[in-house]
Amino acid sequence: MSARKGQMVVMSGPSGAGKSTLCKLLLDDPRVKFSVSATTRAPRAGEIDGRDYHFITPEQFKQLIREGAFIEHAEVHGNLYGTLRKPMEAALERGEVYLLEIDVQGANQLKALGEPGLYIFVAPPDFETLRKRLVGRATDKAEVIERRLKKAEDEYRERIKYDHVVINDDLESSLRRIRSLVGLE
Ligand code: 5GP
Repeated sequence: MSARKGQMVVMSGPSGAGKSTLCKLLLDDPRVKFSVSATTRAPRAGEIDGRDYHFITPEQFKQLIREGAFIEHAEVHGNLYGTLRKPMEAALERGEVYLLEIDVQGANQLKALGEPGLYIFVAPPDFETLRKRLVGRATDKAEVIERRLKKAEDEYRERIKYDHVVINDDLESSLRRIRSLVGLE
């Protein structure tokens, strides 16, 4: 592997914990670049292909697996998601902070590969808050919300595998904490 000047930052956590909002705020810093994952899930309203995700078909996804294009990939809520290896290597060589917003399965795979990086778990203050946030978001149907809550509980148990757990009860202080962990002061 070539010398790396950059830093990989992995952020996981249940949906509704505020992980995506924190990632967006981190991206205000020009030193931080987002790892645009490939996924087979359909775009949500407002999502842009190539910015939020590379939206591809299951066939295209399987082809990319065969080509070894993914450094990790996993099935989440019935859809496939994967981190593309090449853009990540290029960003790290350029010395960027490369931000991966991936689930615990993906983070476990990267840890198992010995990928050096900062592994951060963003946790909701409590599960009632999480339920309220998911319902308030109103982008998903009731059954989808229930599925996400169940997965959130499973994911929450995995937090001990991360370097840091950030309990997101206040966005500003969580952002400050993460920026300091990454060394972005
Ligand atoms: P969503 O469909 O809500 O955007 O994402 C669902 C879950 O998939 C989230 O937990 C998100 O972090 C995770 N995810 C997004 N991209 C990837 C990826 O490339 N790999 C893995 N393992 N998980 C991902």
